[in-house]
Amino acid sequence: MRNYHTHTFRCKHADGDVIDYAREAQKRGLSVLGMTDHTALPDDKWLGMRMAYSELVDYIEAIEQAQAEFPDLEILKGMECEWMPEYHAYFRDELLGEHEFDYLILGCHFFPYKGEWLSSHYQLTDADRLRSYTDFLITSMESGLFAFTAHPDLFGLSYLCWDENTVAASRDILSAAEELGMILEFNGYGLSKRIIDTPQGVRVAYPWQPFWEMAVDYDISVVVNSDSHSPEGVAFGVAEGMEKVKELGLKLADLDHLNRSIPVILKNEL
Ligand SMILES: [Zn+2]
Ligand SMILES: [Zn+2]
Repeated sequence: MRNYHTHTFRCKHADGDVIDYAREAQKRGLSVLGMTDHTALPDDKWLGMRMAYSELVDYIEAIEQAQAEFPDLEILKGMECEWMPEYHAYFRDELLGEHEFDYLILGCHFFPYKGEWLSSHYQLTDADRLRSYTDFLITSMESGLFAFTAHPDLFGLSYLCWDENTVAASRDILSAAEELGMILEFNGYGLSKRIIDTPQGVRVAYPWQPFWEMAVDYDISVVVNSDSHSPEGVAFGVAEGMEKVKELGLKLADLDHLNRSIPVILKNEL
């Protein structure tokens, strides 16, 4: 079993450090542990849910220390990032370049709307906002920096009903993923932790079933991750997610060479 999406205490809403996740991952027989805490940003924007820029080196050292202590476990150095044009060079040159991160993942937790930033978790409450989220997610995907897109269907948390707008948003996200060769994440944390009550009944907020039923019609591949925010949840929803992905008939992505392929391509561009 593998998990490519894991947080640490530095984001202020997760527990434990890399070493705690590594210990738990080994205990549960995982072969790959990808660390992807909410990225540090040079201007410390949205600091309440991410590590401070001053903690970046400490995070890297924590990963390297765990790699040394658990040589049998493949521990990857990654970050979960909100993309914005002004951060593009930082992600590319500093994280992937200078600090040699193995990979970055896209997590679109905020989107621009009428001059302000709104939360993709709680403020996708109408069709207009869903359209802005969708367009911004696709622009972020097009940056070419990311190994995969975390929870692309996160909109299911505050856009409550499946309707023609969610169909249009999903179609656009899935077409873009197909065109860009972008891997999409089937999120295990959502599967076990995000149950909501809606006018259409009680459901899992994300992974939102109809989104993934549509995904079958596109030439895309998926990765199942725990998006773990606690060491004991290091494999949250991964086995169950794998089952669902199989039932749906989705194709699993090949991430075997993640720590070599993606950064090498990007590093050649520097
Ligand atoms: Zn988080
Ligand atoms: Zn995450």
